[in-house]
Order: sequence, then structure tokens, then C-alpha cells
Amino acid sequence: SATLSVMAEEEKEAFDADRAGALVKELRECFDNGKTKSYDWRVSQLESIAKMVDEREKDILAALHQDLSKPEHEAFVSEISLTKGSCKLALQELKSWMMPEKVKTSMTTYPSSAKIVSEPLGVVLVISTWNYPFMLSLEPVIGAIAAGNAVVLKPSEIAPATSSLLAKLLEEYVDNTAIRVVEGAVAETSALLEQKWDTIFYTGSGRVGRIIMSAAARHLTPVILELGGKCPAVVDSDVNIEVGNSIYHTSGVMVAVRRIIAGKWGCNSGQACIAPDYLITAKAFAPKLIDTLRSELKVFFGENPMESKDLSRIVNLYHFKRLSKLMDEDKVSDMKVLGGQRDENQLKIAPTIFLDVPEDSLIMEDEIFGPLLPILTVENLEDSFAVINSRPKPLAAYLFTNNEELKNNFVKNISSGGMLINDTILHVTVSGLPFGGVGESGMGSYHGKFSFDAFSHKKAVLYRSFEGDTPTRYPPYTPGKLKLL
Ligand code: NAD
Repeated sequence: SATLSVMAEEEKEAFDADRAGALVKELRECFDNGKTKSYDWRVSQLESIAKMVDEREKDILAALHQDLSKPEHEAFVSEISLTKGSCKLALQELKSWMMPEKVKTSMTTYPSSAKIVSEPLGVVLVISTWNYPFMLSLEPVIGAIAAGNAVVLKPSEIAPATSSLLAKLLEEYVDNTAIRVVEGAVAETSALLEQKWDTIFYTGSGRVGRIIMSAAARHLTPVILELGGKCPAVVDSDVNIEVGNSIYHTSGVMVAVRRIIAGKWGCNSGQACIAPDYLITAKAFAPKLIDTLRSELKVFFGENPMESKDLSRIVNLYHFKRLSKLMDEDKVSDMKVLGGQRDENQLKIAPTIFLDVPEDSLIMEDEIFGPLLPILTVENLEDSFAVINSRPKPLAAYLFTNNEELKNNFVKNISSGGMLINDTILHVTVSGLPFGGVGESGMGSYHGKFSFDAFSHKKAVLYRSFEGDTPTRYPPYTPGKLKLL
């Protein structure tokens, strides 16, 4: 009977479609009461999240360390600071974001006035991922709250410490009649997906993105899909010039390489959706590029990077094995020019670089999402455009060059979610730029005001008076009336 009662308890606990339905009903009632629409409610919730991040910073850093051995410095910059910054911006700008936007009207409607009114969508679902499990969960939630919605967050089960911390903290800090966390994996997410939502915001792989979109289609629910892809970084040999001033003097290639390292291994060991996935450079320049990568990696992570505390580990054994398979494929194992060390017990893989891997190798097939970096070479740098354009559109594309014409051609000819010239990653920190994919890297965008817009309906409102009524629009339609138009 003890077993039976445990089973009964488990059954009661299982988050199935019925419980998901009850949750949505509860949140919808709350939304319909109008509470979440008020400016004051939105501000109070955003302030609570900012307070939560401030007060519980240590717990958050500890959970991130537990899930990914994420170095504290990295976690602070990319998870704590970015989340706080987004709360702060939303609090500063909310009044102006909520303000109806006046638009011009036409002679046809004269006299009249028109405006675009942003209204919350209703009850929204945010499904998040594991690589930046704190920031990528809260960033869309901040947008959803700013726009006045009730929201359910489903964090990733692959980062369990952060998932359970988020559940605990949000229960403690925010209004649970409108903001809830559901923890779980496929079963729980599927139960949530059976419900009717007013939008679904999903971050993760294209494979699951397709599942989300078909579930949403049943209810005609709009989706925002923040997916991934193989982000290329093209490096021109003309970066190899002296730069800087008398205090900080270095070479352009050194700057380019440091920024590539920061964007690849300094971002969760390459487990980042906008980490450079592969490099393309001119054949003649590859040796210089590799030498500089080798020397700078040593400066950053020491002689033995496996011992470095500044490199995140691979998230779990499944992903460790997936990456090992890419490294061990016969076609590429001889192409390794740096690294290759790995430790299954610690789930660590050293920064590993391959040169001239065949385009049909596994490592060039799907997004790598780890610390492996293949370098492709071309005779002429503009040949890289064809390589990039022969693949699905990436979430980000990078170019390092001093050549203005090449920059222009890159922007004109490469389609990607975002683009950054002469650096990596930092475009996501510019809140005036939308963040999102195109084609297979996703649909819809967010960050800053774009987050508010992502969770709002833009309602078109036209105000007419009883003046200005003309008979020309009314039957009977006579030739004389047509002439007057
Ligand atoms: P994933 O698709 O495996 O999982 C993400 C979420 O989907 C989790 O919450 C998980 O519980 C849920 N899920 C998994 N299987 C499901 C199923 N069968 N049915 C319903 N829900 C399911 O993705 P991942 O491995 O966590 O993420 C890796 C991918 O995410 C990479 O492609 C990366 O580029 C992308 N990514 C994109 C961004 C971005 O902002 N665009 C950010 C981080 C990661």
C-alpha cells in the first residue's frame, strides 16, 4: 500500500493535458480580469524580476555552474547582466512602448484620425533551452510581461538546476496568478502544447521547432521560433595590419582571432546559437590564422585547456558523444590542426580546430554547438558567399575585413538572422537591433522594443466623425458619382 500511495502521489503529480488545461484556464481568467494589462502591474512584475536577479545572483551563478560549469565571469556577463539590462530598459521605456502610435490618414477617410494600439495577446507560452538557461528563459518572459500578458515558462530539463531554481524564484518573487513555471521534458511540453495559447515563443532546435509549429497550427496560434544554424565567420587576409595606439598596440589579425575565440570558446564552449560555427578564409592566409588562434588560445586557456576553469563543459553525455562522433569521423580526424583532448568523465572537450574538412563531412552537416571549429579555405574570399548561400540561412554571419567593398557585398548578398562586421556575438547586446532568425534559423524576433512588439497585437484603430459624409460611396452607383471620385 506504501507503493500504491507513492504511485498515486506520482500520478497526482504528473503534469498531463488536464492539468495543463486547468492552468491555462486559471491564467486566462486572470488575464480576462484585466489585471495584467495595467501599467502598474507590469512595472511591479518587472521590478520584482530585477530584484530577484539582484538578490539571488549567487544562487543563479551556482545553478549555472552546476548545469554547465559555466565560468562565473561568463555567467555574470551573459546571463545576469543581460537579464538585468533588459528589465531596466523595459522599465525605462514601457510608457513610451505602450503609447498608441499616431499614423497619417488619407483623403478617403477625411476627416479622421488613426492610431496603432498595442494590446497584449493574452496567455502566452515560453519554451526555453539549456545553453543560456537563465537569460534565454527570462528575456522573453520580460517581453511578455511588458506587453501585459499572462505567461507560462517551460525551462529546459537539460539544465535541471537552473530550471528548478527558476521555478522556485518566480514562485517567490512574481505574481503567480499570472506568471507560472512548469518544469519538465517532452511529456510536460506536449501537455502544454495541446492547449490553446495566444502565442508560443520557442527557443531551441529546428527539429522541435517543427513540432511546436504543427501543434500551434491546430489552434491557429502564432509562433516565434528562435532556432539555430551554422553561423559562418569569413576572415580576410587584409586584417593583418597594425592597429591601436601607443598604449594598446596590436595587429588586426590578433584582434580578429581574439574576438573569434571570445565568440566561440568564450561563449559556453561553443554551445551558443550565434557562436561562429565554421571559418572561411583565403588558402594563403590559413597558416597565419591558425598560428594566431593557437597562440591566443594558449594565452586565454593555458597550456592545458582541459584544466582551465574558464571553459564551460559539455552539457551532458548525449552531447559529448554527439561531438565525439563529429571529431572521430574518418574524413576529418586527420584534418585536426589543434586540440582534440577530451574527458568523458568531466564532459570536457578542448578547443579543437580542423583545416579543410570536406563539405560533405558530418561536422559540416548540422550546427556543431560545441568547441569544434572547422576552417574552410577558398582561393578568392568572395567565393565564400557561394559556400554560405548553398546552406540554410544562418542565425548570424560574421565578416572580418578592412575592405569596404567586401563589407557591402557581404551585407547585400548574404541572408542571415543578424550580421556583425569585425566582431562576434556583440550585435545581440544592441537593444535597438531585432534578434531572430530567417529561413531555417527561425521566425520572428525580440530584444528591447521588439520583445514588447513580439507579445503585442498591433490593433489598427480609425476614428471618424459624422462629418465629411459623401454620397459617392453609396448606391445607386451612377456614372455621375464615378466621375466625382
Ligand atoms: P531542443 O529543441 O532539444 O529543446 C528545447 C526545448 O524543447 C526544451 O524546453 C525541451 O523540453 C523542449 N522539447 C524537446 N523535445 C521536445 C518534443 N519532442 N516535444 C516538445 N518539446 C520538446 O533544443 P536544444 O537542444 O535545447 O537547443 C539547441 C538548439 O537551440 C540549437 O540549434 C541552438 O542554435 C538553438 N538555440 C537558439 C537560440 C536563439 O536564441 N535563436 C538560443 C539558444 C539555442
